[in-house]
Amino acid sequence: MDFSAYPVIDHHSHPWSFDTKEITKNFFLSVMNMGGLSPEEAKDPEKLIHSEFTPMGRQIMHLMAGYLECSPTLDEVIEARNKRSRGDYQKYCKDLFEDANIEGLFVDDGYSEVSVASDLSKRDFEDFEKTLSPVPIRRVARIEPRFQAAVDASKDYQDFVQRFDASITDAVRRQRAIAFKSIIAYRSGLNIQKPSEAEILKDYKRSKAYRERGVKNIRDWYIRRIIGRCKELNASLHIHCGMGDVDVVFDRCNPSQLYELLKDRETWDTKIFLIHGGYPFSQEGAFFANALKNIYIDLSEMIPFASVVGAIDKTTQILDMAPPSRVVFGSDGVVLPEIHWAGAKIGRRVLEQVFQKFVGAGVYDEDEAHRAAKMILFENAKRIYLPW
Ligand SMILES: [Zn+2]
Repeated sequence: MDFSAYPVIDHHSHPWSFDTKEITKNFFLSVMNMGGLSPEEAKDPEKLIHSEFTPMGRQIMHLMAGYLECSPTLDEVIEARNKRSRGDYQKYCKDLFEDANIEGLFVDDGYSEVSVASDLSKRDFEDFEKTLSPVPIRRVARIEPRFQAAVDASKDYQDFVQRFDASITDAVRRQRAIAFKSIIAYRSGLNIQKPSEAEILKDYKRSKAYRERGVKNIRDWYIRRIIGRCKELNASLHIHCGMGDVDVVFDRCNPSQLYELLKDRETWDTKIFLIHGGYPFSQEGAFFANALKNIYIDLSEMIPFASVVGAIDKTTQILDMAPPSRVVFGSDGVVLPEIHWAGAKIGRRVLEQVFQKFVGAGVYDEDEAHRAAKMILFENAKRIYLPW
C-alpha cells in the first residue's frame, strides 16, 4: 500500500509561535513526552535522558534527520534545523507542510483557564492564522475558558447562562468556529449525568467563589447545553477522551464513561468526535463509532506521540469496528511544527500497514483500502465540515 500521494487535513492540533524559531536540544527533548518537561525539569540530566529515549522523540528525530539530510544525532539535527529555521521561520514552516502535504489544520484555540500541573499558554488564533500558519486553519473553540469567563463576569446564575450562551453564539458567528472542544476529562471526568437545577446552582456558586476544577454538576450541564446549541448552530462537538497530560482524571477519561450521555437520544443530532481515539482505550471508542450514528473517532496524539508500532495496533483496533467514514486523522501537534509534520508522515505510514493487513485478510480489496485511507486522511474532514 502506498498512500504517500494523498494530502492530509489535520483534525486536531494546536498553534505554535515565533518563540520556536530557534530551539535548543533540551527544548526539543522537553516536548517529547506527554505533558513535556518544565524549564526547571529540563535542567535535570536524569529527566532529560528519559525524554531522549521516548519513542516519540526518537521517531521524530529520525524523520528530521532524513528531511534535513544530516546524521541522526540530536545535536546535528537541531543544528541543521536552526540553520534553516532561524532566517525565515514562515518559509521553514511552509516547506515542512509542503513536504508532508498538509492541506489544512483544525486548531484548538484553548488554554488553561484554571491552574493545572502542565498548562497550555494563551496563543491568539487570529495572530497565528495571519502570521505563521502555512495552510488554511479552522477554529475549534475551547469550551472551558468560555465557561470560566462567563462565570467570572456574571452577576448571578441567570446572567451567567446568558453570557455563556452569547459566547457560544459568538464563537460560531463572529469567530468562525466550526466545532467546540471540551476537556471535561481534565476537570470532572467523562461520566456526564443530568444534574438537577439545585445541584447546578450550588456548583455555580462554588465556581464563582473558588474557580474550582471539579464542579461536576455545572460542567455536566454545559456539555449538554453545548450539544443542544451545536444542533442549532450547525457545529460539532470534540471531546478529549483517553489519556493526555498527567492531570487528566485518569479513572474517568475512558470513552466508555460517556455511555450515559451518548445513549441519550437528545444527543443524537449532534456530531460528536472522540478526540485522541480514547487512546489507550481505543476499542471502547470504536464501539461507539459503530453502534451510534453521530459518533466519530480522531487518531490524534496516538499519532505521533506513541510509536509507529503501537499506533498500528491501536489503529487496527479502531478500524476493526469503526467504519473508515467515521475516522479522521489528527496529530495533536503543539509547540513545534515538526510534530504536525511528523504526524502527517507517520499517519500515512500507519494506515498503509493497517490496510495492508485488512487487504490480506480479505476485509477490503485494494481499491477500497485506498478509498478508506483517503476518507481518513482528508475526505471525511472536508465532507463533515463543509465548506473547507
Ligand atoms: Zn490537543
